[in-house]
Amino acid sequence: MKANYGYKDGSGEYYITIDSDLCTGCGSCVTACPAEVFTVVADEFSLDDEQVAIVAEAQRNKLKYACAPCKPVGERSPLPCVAACRPGAIEHSW
Ligand code: SF4
Ligand code: SF4
Repeated sequence: MKANYGYKDGSGEYYITIDSDLCTGCGSCVTACPAEVFTVVADEFSLDDEQVAIVAEAQRNKLKYACAPCKPVGERSPLPCVAACRPGAIEHSW
């Protein structure tokens, strides 16, 4: 299941999508991200007590600013979080 975290405003749409079917809960994105955007929690939809990454509540309404040091994509590509995620579970909308 894909979970979208973020918002849109007059300047654009700022969403991070995490595919919980791909996410292994490894925590590499937590370590790689300089802005503490990610956290790993128990997957509420898992019957096997699996872990899954989510975007931290405190960051969800300011992703444009939290991620600004890593962007635009191309100058520092790939993004640290995307590069750290071996299963390819993380996508950014901008
Ligand atoms: S782009 Fe940078 S700041 Fe934003 S979630 Fe990824 S690693 Fe963290
Ligand atoms: S790096 Fe990818 S697989 Fe690992 S916890 Fe983060 S989103 Fe999940």
